[in-house]
Amino acid sequence: MQWETVIGLEIHTQLATKSKIFSGSSTAFGAEPNTQAALIDLGMPGVLPVLNRDAVRMAVRFGKAIDARVAERSVFARKNYFYPDLPKGYQISQYELPVVGEGSVEIVLDDGDVKTIGVTRAHLEEDAGKSLHEDFHGMTGIDLNRAGTPLLEIVSEPDMRSAKEAVAYAKKIHQIVTYIGICDGNMQEGSFRVDANVSIRPKGQAEFGTRAELKNINSFRFLEKAINFEIERQIEVIEDGGKVVQETRLYDAAKDETRSMRTKEEANDYRYFPDPDLLPLEIDEAFIADVMATMPELPDARLARFQSDYGLSTYDADVLTASRPLADYFEAVAEIGGDAKLAANWVMGELAAALNRDGIDIDASPVDAEAFGQLVARIHDNTISGKIGKEVFAAMWAGEGSADAVIAAKGLKQITDTGAIEALVDAVLAANPVQVENYRNADPAKQPKMIGFFVGQIMKQSQGKANPQQVNELLRKKLS
Ligand code: ADP
Ligand code: MG
Repeated sequence: MQWETVIGLEIHTQLATKSKIFSGSSTAFGAEPNTQAALIDLGMPGVLPVLNRDAVRMAVRFGKAIDARVAERSVFARKNYFYPDLPKGYQISQYELPVVGEGSVEIVLDDGDVKTIGVTRAHLEEDAGKSLHEDFHGMTGIDLNRAGTPLLEIVSEPDMRSAKEAVAYAKKIHQIVTYIGICDGNMQEGSFRVDANVSIRPKGQAEFGTRAELKNINSFRFLEKAINFEIERQIEVIEDGGKVVQETRLYDAAKDETRSMRTKEEANDYRYFPDPDLLPLEIDEAFIADVMATMPELPDARLARFQSDYGLSTYDADVLTASRPLADYFEAVAEIGGDAKLAANWVMGELAAALNRDGIDIDASPVDAEAFGQLVARIHDNTISGKIGKEVFAAMWAGEGSADAVIAAKGLKQITDTGAIEALVDAVLAANPVQVENYRNADPAKQPKMIGFFVGQIMKQSQGKANPQQVNELLRKKLS
């Protein structure tokens, strides 16, 4: 039997607001437990939630970024369930009328084909607190700092057909929410969490199979592994004559397996009803126009522009637009360096290698875009060669100052003075009479290769500083 996989993702993105969605408490990560929980977050009786305008702005911004419908009117609903870290006994979410309706994003598949993935909806909701099982022996601690943190839950259509497609989609959403600045994207801290709904069906069958939901996956690598494990598990269950049950499963990264957590609730188990404490959310054209006024260039548009404006290849443009800080860095370097292609090579080459080697984010690079742009400018204007450029960069990385300072301090300026180069050439030719003789007697087809010997000697004599083009030209003249 040939099986086809069907995957839909629910992604919880933590919105980068300063305060919570219904209270003024801080959303900063890592504070002492229960120091950032107001009466509203604690669910005390008689308190009233007040909707955070910034959270709404961010939701609208996302809707517009994926070409979705932004609802003129949406409604907050109570989703009722008991959990120790949910003191109110319900979570305020949106149910029938979400703030963002259908939209779509494009992903690029391995073979370069583009596939459109539908986004069903995105709704605003509050996060719950955290249960801490490790710190207290035989007990569970409750930290309500996270309670009331604004989330945008982004629900996809079941449009993905492999773990790879699911990862490409999740990365695309991650790229968009970080580009438009509504989420810090930090997966370790739980700012971007993925639930994967996975089912299989015989190839060619129209109806979907029963799905299992893999909860709270916080890395792209785990997402791929968890889905692939789950596909194999479901195939095995069905081929052994069993049935997949609709349930929530947990991915255990240490064991690389998924385990059942609980059977899946149906929506009607939650007894959703409109929250009587909150008015319907109404969004008018002026609000949307205001949000659009600060919408940055989106990653797909930037990718296209990098190709058309800078003449970069699709591959280079893709690498350089992967994140907004990287794209910003590159553009600054290209501007200062005076040569976009050269800037692209140096950012993707020397800089990326150093960042990677030292495990540093581009935001924290010890060589900022301006300094790096000046290095590229010195290569572009022939003050130094590319080879010397690497030496200068290493010194800059080590904190030895600007490109110009390093070039001056180490005397690395390229020799372009014709007289000086001629003297070097003459000295090397005089010191190697046999090679000169051989060259002159050689088959002209072999000469271009043989000239490399003299170039090498001269570069060595000049400690890499002679301008290679000039050296080549002079040599050809003198040897002919
Ligand atoms: P719930 O919120 O209860 O999990 P939804 O209907 O909102 O249910 O669906 C959640 C996600 O599950 C969506 O991303 C959807 O695309 C996906 N999904 C629904 N049915 C299937 C299926 N049979 N196989 C895989 N994914 C599915
Ligand atoms: Mg779900």
